[in-house]
Amino acid sequence: KKVADRYLRREVLGEGTYGVVYKAIDTKTGQTVAIKKIRLGKQKEGINFTALREIKLLKELKNPNIIELIDAFPHKGNLHLVFEFMETDLEAVIRDRNIFLSPADIKSYLQMTLKGLAFCHKKWVLHRDVKPNNLLIGPNGQLKLADFGLARVFGSPDRRFTHQVFARWYRAPELLFGAKQYGSGVDVWAAACIFAELLLRRPFLQGLSDIDQLGKIFAAFGTPTPSQWADIVYLPDYVEYQYVPAPPLRSLFPMASDDALDLLSKMFTYDPKVRISVQQALEHRYFSSVPLPTEPDKLPRPA
Ligand code: ADP
Repeated sequence: KKVADRYLRREVLGEGTYGVVYKAIDTKTGQTVAIKKIRLGKQKEGINFTALREIKLLKELKNPNIIELIDAFPHKGNLHLVFEFMETDLEAVIRDRNIFLSPADIKSYLQMTLKGLAFCHKKWVLHRDVKPNNLLIGPNGQLKLADFGLARVFGSPDRRFTHQVFARWYRAPELLFGAKQYGSGVDVWAAACIFAELLLRRPFLQGLSDIDQLGKIFAAFGTPTPSQWADIVYLPDYVEYQYVPAPPLRSLFPMASDDALDLLSKMFTYDPKVRISVQQALEHRYFSSVPLPTEPDKLPRPA
C-alpha cells in the first residue's frame, strides 16, 4: 500500500512516544526509510502553523550525527515524518552481553553523541529526550540522534505511558525540581547518564519515581550545597532535603580512566549554569588522549 504516492509501506517497527513507526521503501530513491506516524487527533488544536514551521527547521538540521528528516506530510489526519532507516540503537549495543566495549569504543560512541548535540545546540535546538534508544546506529557504525526537536514541537512525551518511564533516568536535576526555563544543560546531563551507562553496562541512576530519581542522584553525587547550586531554592518544586554526603566518584566507576572520570564529573555538575557545555566536553582532553576513539565502521555491533 502506498502512502502519499511515494512510500511503499512495510512492517511495523515499533510504537514510539508519538505514535507507530513503520518501515517503508521510498519509491523515488529506492531508499529504505522509517516513517513515524504522529496522531494528531489527541492534540486539541491539531497541527498548528508553529509546529509546521518548526518541522521545516528540523528538515534543515543536517549533520552526520543527526538522523535526517527526509520528508514530512499530513495524511489521513496523521502527520507522517520520514527518516532514514537505521539498523540498531545504542540500547541494543549496551545490553548485548556478547559485545565487549573497549575504552576506545566507549569514547567513540560518546563523541558521536556529543557531536550531534553540539550541532543542534549551535542552532539553538534542544533534544530534551536523549536516551540510549534514541541514539540510532547506521550501517557504517555512525551513531545518529533521533527525535531531535520533537519534544518542543509536540510537547513533552506523555510520561503516563509505561514505555516512557525510562526517560526519567536521564533527566537533569533542574527538570526534576520543576524548572520551566532550562537550557542545553539538560542534554548534557542525559549524555552524562549515557556515558555512565556505557562504562557500567547498565543504566546508572534507575529511579522508580521522580522523587526517587532525585534520591538516586543525591546518593551518587551527594546533596548539592548552596555553593554548588545557589539557584536551586528558586526552582518551583524545590523542597528542603536531608544532607547526603558524596561518595568518591571513583568508587562508582572503578574501571574508568582519570580523564573519563574528570569529564564525567564536569557533565554531572548540579548547577546547569556551571555544567560543562557540549562543545567544551568535545574539547576535553579525554577525547585527545589515548586511546583515541574507535573509527565508527570498526565499532562492535549486535550480530
Ligand atoms: P520512542 O518514542 O519510545 O523513543 P520511537 O518513536 O523513536 O520510540 O521509535 C519506536 C520504534 O521504532 C523503536 O523500536 C525504534 O527502534 C524504531 N525506530 C524509530 N526510528 C527508526 C529509524 N529511523 N530506523 C529504524 N527504526 C526506527
